[in-house]
Amino acid sequence: MSAAPERLDRFMQRANAAYYATCDPFADFVTAPEIAQAFGEIIGAWAAVMWQAIGAPSTVLLVEAGPGRGTLMADALRLASRVAPDFRRALHLHLLETSPRLRRLQAAALPDASPTWHDTLESLPDGPMLLIGNEFLDALPIRQLVRTATGWLERHVAGGGFVLCETDLAPFSLPGRSVAPGEVVEVCEPGQAIVRALAGRLARSPGAALFLDYGPDRPGTGDTLQALRDGSPAPPLQEPGRADLTAHVDFPTLRAIARAEGAAVYGPDGQGGFLSALGLFARTERLAQGRPPEQARALVDAAHRLAAPDRMGRLFKAMALCHPSLGVPPGFTRTPDSEPAT
Ligand code: SAH
Repeated sequence: MSAAPERLDRFMQRANAAYYATCDPFADFVTAPEIAQAFGEIIGAWAAVMWQAIGAPSTVLLVEAGPGRGTLMADALRLASRVAPDFRRALHLHLLETSPRLRRLQAAALPDASPTWHDTLESLPDGPMLLIGNEFLDALPIRQLVRTATGWLERHVAGGGFVLCETDLAPFSLPGRSVAPGEVVEVCEPGQAIVRALAGRLARSPGAALFLDYGPDRPGTGDTLQALRDGSPAPPLQEPGRADLTAHVDFPTLRAIARAEGAAVYGPDGQGGFLSALGLFARTERLAQGRPPEQARALVDAAHRLAAPDRMGRLFKAMALCHPSLGVPPGFTRTPDSEPAT
């Protein structure tokens, strides 16, 4: 590692690439599809309904960004085979994944799906597309700017800590946000680029994208970089590659970018309301039927963990980008132009 200060996003990129290449992320943190199979099933049902909404094309790209172990997609495809076999036959699975190690796990989890893997969105073929991303955007590298009395400086990493350096992001303006000296503002350039490209594509051709992730629905400031190791917070700047680094997703900025590109945007809405509206608890009850009591209880607990406001139900959000001619997607209640509720 060089002694020169490294810009935070480059540090985070390097640390996470090493982390996903060598560690088992799911020993360190647990994601929604690993908590409850109903989660992936609900996403599969959502995709099937959206396929109908875009006119049930005879072929459609089903894309997952950052599929982890492939659990969400395995649950989604199993459900689709059962309740929407025409959709299952029409879909071609494409996975956006940079980690060779996770690609191998995904291949093993999806033995009948013949996925095509991609490093970036650019190599996806044209055509109607449905894209899912659960806890994908939060893993993308962020930059952190610090307001000073006279302008902005940018956080770099050196010797396991932050140092402030000059920034080329200036002049840096934040519409609707007043930032006091000393405060930190985060910018996720790859997340913005992905949403811009996707929204542009969805403005022109049929389809929709659904992101589930954690972050606020109002513009905010502050350092949200976090590292998890063995399920507990760890120092994010030490031992790069040994812990999973994530940051809050800046939904308001992504929403504004997607709207400017011409996509209809729904949410961000709380994950709890979204999953409940799509039948999380009804599905959980079905799965619990006939099981021994402790297994049935564990299924219900898992659903509460995903949906309860004091657990993952409020901090986690759902946001959809849609082709503008589509109606309100399942699970969302507001029109694309209304602002998120407080
Ligand atoms: N969606 C999964 C995994 C979330 S972890 C789940 O819910 O369990 C983040 C995932 O995004 C991992 O699969 C990781 O390898 C992938 N990832 C991180 N950065 C990426 C990038 N720049 N391009 C593609 N995939 C990336």
